[in-house]
Amino acid sequence: MTIDEVRLAEGVEDNIRTASRPSELRITDIRVAEIVGAPFTSALLKIYTNQGLVGFGEVRDGASATYALMLKSRLLGENPCDIDRLFRRIKQFGGHGRQGGGVSAIEIALWDLAGKAYGVPVYQMLGGKFRDKVRVYCDTDAEKPSGTETGKRLKERMDMGFTFLKMDLGLAQISHIPGAVVAPAGVLEGFRSHAGGRRVGQSLEQRRARNAVYDAQNVPHPFTGLHFTEKGLDLLDQYIHEVREVIGYEVPLAIDHVGHISLQDGIRLARRIEKYAPAWLEDVIPWQYTDQYRQLQEATSVPICTGEDIYLKEGFEPLLNSGISVIHPDLLTSGGILETKKIGDAAQDHGIAMAIHMAESPIAAMAAAHVAIATENFMALEFHSVEVDWWDDIVTGLPKPLVKDGFITVTDKPGLGIDDVVDEVISQHLQEGVKGIWLPTDHWDDEYSWDRTWS
Ligand SMILES: [Mg+2]
Repeated sequence: MTIDEVRLAEGVEDNIRTASRPSELRITDIRVAEIVGAPFTSALLKIYTNQGLVGFGEVRDGASATYALMLKSRLLGENPCDIDRLFRRIKQFGGHGRQGGGVSAIEIALWDLAGKAYGVPVYQMLGGKFRDKVRVYCDTDAEKPSGTETGKRLKERMDMGFTFLKMDLGLAQISHIPGAVVAPAGVLEGFRSHAGGRRVGQSLEQRRARNAVYDAQNVPHPFTGLHFTEKGLDLLDQYIHEVREVIGYEVPLAIDHVGHISLQDGIRLARRIEKYAPAWLEDVIPWQYTDQYRQLQEATSVPICTGEDIYLKEGFEPLLNSGISVIHPDLLTSGGILETKKIGDAAQDHGIAMAIHMAESPIAAMAAAHVAIATENFMALEFHSVEVDWWDDIVTGLPKPLVKDGFITVTDKPGLGIDDVVDEVISQHLQEGVKGIWLPTDHWDDEYSWDRTWS
């Protein structure tokens, strides 16, 4: 070989990524870090490989890390780049609401690994960009029963650069006011209580009390018997009126947390607030009642929205024919990155916009941002952590702050674009009773069932 040939060979070698051999990449371990306060509870997830690459995922807010860890034995030894094949293997172990959290966390970490293995950002693997940055909408819990006070909080968000807002409007704002809500005895109390954390109590009575909270809150909306009175509707009308008096009409304002009311009360509220031009009215009734969603949307000019608890594209499909205006998947329930891209594209075929629900760490935010960049009918991505001053410090490698002037900029870095998770930061925010981060999960290695779905 001549010297030139050697140099040529060396030059070629320089251009080959030798850090990873994607075809030989194998999953060797899955571990979690269960944190609280960013803004709620969630579990950060790592998938480890035989080539040193680590993929990041996250189990949905409020969901158990078990939903992901129980899948470990079905994934060890596999090539994480076979995302769709592995997703189809494990998707039978997800469900709506928090049950979708495990499958979705794994799917996201697989995309991160595939991106890192091939040196490509996730949005590019989805087909490329429709936009350079992601519009973020700022959700704002209304703690004070005053539209003016909530308006001031929303105005602070606008001053931070947010161009899209959301607030709560419903039972929570008025149920303490005599004559505002008709309620069968005890029902409102059931909605005021919370199930608490994992160590809420160890006695049998304490456990029964927690389970009773679940039972009370899982009564489907049409069966609660709760109704707004005209006085209640007047109060809600006045509340959003006061908000608009403060924030004006420059920015879209979405409405959430109406409460577990009936279709008919949803229609009454929607008609009352049409004049305030809401961006959408969210989750008025359970998403499974697609016929009722059709009636709701046909009865009002307020765009009707739902979707944060729906698992998989097939969960959305009946709803897409109901005529609603906005779907609102959460990537950590919907099945992850590719499934949400498919959901968005299917919605687009029906003339429906896609907003994205998100209430976790920068890992979940980046997974959603990559889908948002790559999906044409995307409208806005939720952000729930304005007051969490350590939120940006959970990871390295992203722009700081990640949400700047109301937008997330997605870089060209491989995978989700996250360099690493900062152990010192997350160690300070562990869920109650959690003994450490990234602890061994060997006890899940031999989890087994005969997973054949058809006999
Ligand atoms: Mg919501």
